[in-house]
Amino acid sequence: MTETLDKSKVYFVGAGPGDPELITLKGYRLLQQADVVIYAGSLINPALLDYCKPEAECHDSAYLHLQQIIQLMVDGIHHNKLVVRLQTGDLSLYGSVREQGEELAKQQIGFRCIAGVSSFLGAAAELGVEYTVPEVSQSLIITRMAGRTPTPELESLIRFAGHQTSMAIFLSVQGIGAVAEQLVQGGYPTETPVSVVYKATWPDCQILKGTLADIAQTVTDAGIQKTALILVGRFLGEEYHYSKLYDAAFSHEYR
Ligand code: SAH
Repeated sequence: MTETLDKSKVYFVGAGPGDPELITLKGYRLLQQADVVIYAGSLINPALLDYCKPEAECHDSAYLHLQQIIQLMVDGIHHNKLVVRLQTGDLSLYGSVREQGEELAKQQIGFRCIAGVSSFLGAAAELGVEYTVPEVSQSLIITRMAGRTPTPELESLIRFAGHQTSMAIFLSVQGIGAVAEQLVQGGYPTETPVSVVYKATWPDCQILKGTLADIAQTVTDAGIQKTALILVGRFLGEEYHYSKLYDAAFSHEYR
């Protein structure tokens, strides 16, 4: 690390979408020095743990509830150990950092966050696409289907679909049929392109392509139930316009 480590705090580190080379250098260095690592086993590539010292204690949080996770962190900090909480993608999306931070605060322990590459970025890279395409779409909606965690009514898929912009839908592939139905009900034409990216940036990544009319069947046939993103919108289609940014007639000031 180029800055001094503060062992009185827990380091939350974004692990990236899967490829062990897609963690940040800061995250990598923290893993190299960590004494205690608590990782989300269902989504973290175990190859990342190879960066740790052989004597580091690594705990899979899939088997732990919140209080057990917090206890491991507190015990580590009290023993002057470097504690790293490794979470998939970036921490700022569906990361539940807040609740862990609140619990740590009750024990007078602070935390630092190290950004990661979110899976929606890994998925775009796999596909070699941009969510923003001149004159086609200039916005990206990141959302999920309502599940055990409800979504506010103003953020329902049906309402968002009215914008017909680019969408990256997390945590919802198990309900792909309902997702496609709601998006059509909300306003996307049935021929809108959809890509489902399973395990973006992992060696066993799968990319399924279709439209809102047929993607549910394709995903069901492939048996994909989790660890996938549903990407929707005309940014995946054929229409494209060159950007003004590199236009010979355009001022250089923003390049
Ligand atoms: N903080 C994470 C998201 C955690 S929620 C991030 O920034 O990516 C977990 C959901 O993220 C999964 O259900 C899936 O929808 C998505 N996800 C995580 N890793 C993925 C990957 N490698 N490929 C596709 N989707 C992924």
